[in-house]
Amino acid sequence: MKVLFIASEATPFIKTGGLGDVLGSLPKALHNENQNCIVILPKYRDLLYATSLSFVTEFTIWFGFKKQCCSIYTAIVDKITFYFIDHQQYFNTHNIYGYGDDYERFVFFDVAAMKAIRYLQLKPDIIHLHDWQTALIALLYKEKYNQYRYYKDIKIVFTIHNLAYQGKANPSALRRLFGVDALKYLNKNCFHNGYFNIMKSGLIYSDIITTVSPTYAKEILTKEYGESLEAILQTHQNKLYGILNGVDDGPYSPNNSSHQNLTIHRKKQVAKLALQKECHLPINKDIACIGMVTRLTWQKGLDLILQKINIILNQNIQLIILGVGDNQYEQALHQLQKQYPRQISFQQKYDENLAQRIYAGIDMFLMPSLFEPCGLSQMIALQHASIPIVRNIGGLRDSIRNYTQSTKQANGFTFDNYSANEMVTSINRALTIYYEDKKTWQKLMIHAISNDFSWEQSAKQYLVVYKKLMQES
Ligand code: ADP
Repeated sequence: MKVLFIASEATPFIKTGGLGDVLGSLPKALHNENQNCIVILPKYRDLLYATSLSFVTEFTIWFGFKKQCCSIYTAIVDKITFYFIDHQQYFNTHNIYGYGDDYERFVFFDVAAMKAIRYLQLKPDIIHLHDWQTALIALLYKEKYNQYRYYKDIKIVFTIHNLAYQGKANPSALRRLFGVDALKYLNKNCFHNGYFNIMKSGLIYSDIITTVSPTYAKEILTKEYGESLEAILQTHQNKLYGILNGVDDGPYSPNNSSHQNLTIHRKKQVAKLALQKECHLPINKDIACIGMVTRLTWQKGLDLILQKINIILNQNIQLIILGVGDNQYEQALHQLQKQYPRQISFQQKYDENLAQRIYAGIDMFLMPSLFEPCGLSQMIALQHASIPIVRNIGGLRDSIRNYTQSTKQANGFTFDNYSANEMVTSINRALTIYYEDKKTWQKLMIHAISNDFSWEQSAKQYLVVYKKLMQES
């Protein structure tokens, strides 16, 4: 089967969160299952390995009442071919999201990607789209391209990585981009509450919708988590599947032979002491070290932490937070670091190497999310024998089993409601075991590294979905 992934980020080239991880790993895992996978991305200014891309071709498209030039570059990584769509203005930006014209940038990308399929002779069996940035392709395909012979019989899979971001735009802005074609494309299927809603068009026009955990697939059908699209999702429930993301091999994976001679306990201590030094915290192998590696947004439960920070820091702990994002959280965390320099280290940056050192050196990983479609960070923490303390929601619910004396294979601590008190209680439960019951803590660490969240498992489930779709045709 030939599967064409079209997305806004992918490792190793560019990543802001879990979406980038998925696009870096899933095509590889499917390739290992003998599928032919190709990825199309925008060519952002700050792509890693930009100098290793080679120019392929260029073409023009009508967009926003003018002819716009677009160049295609390529690179092969781990046997997967990536194509990059370049546009002088739209992708020549410092960040990849967060601009007033994001909808325009990604609508251009979608239109250009559809044209690139033919230019590059890529015709796939399946186009697999990801999040609102590429959702419009489902509409473009069903309303336009499938009428052309070259494009016939392609199936469209759309994955929701985060329903909260929907790509809303003023209808008149979209009409301007599509010109005369607007009348054909922009119909009630893509308007929602007075706005053009790109996510909605992906939900309606795709042949199959997947999302990134079985629990989130159920949650988004409810008013509480449906982000105002629950009724649409309920209508399309019979084509909705929840498949938990995977993670690449961790330090204790059977395929990784480095440092096998150190015990988990010893390895954790070495990593912790180095991390404390790097983060300018007192060096102490016995103190409980709690970490977070996260986008600093309202979704990630930072409000709960800020509400109860005095109570949390009353305990014998250190807290290390790596993240960038909303100014209010960055300011608050800087302030707290000044106030508690011996307990808090705030690393305000995006740094994948430091992230790995944090996952390795901490004892506990805190993730009290308001909602969490899948969450990869808690799985990466598990791989490093760092015990997650999480809210029991979305993909966190599907990956973390709460410790009680009777839980078999417990690998973390969970709490149900979005409540600062419940979070503090879970942190305290974890600290009690950490300080007073070393044997149980060791067991938790063993369970943590024994979980199999490999991409192989997830890729097999995607394959079942793809095959089902192909059989229906
Ligand atoms: P989301 O996709 O909502 O951001 P996930 O937990 O699914 O959350 O994935 C986050 C990914 O991004 C993880 O791989 C995590 O390690 C990484 N990450 C988040 N913030 C940073 C940061 N500041 N520096 C390095 N990696 C980060």
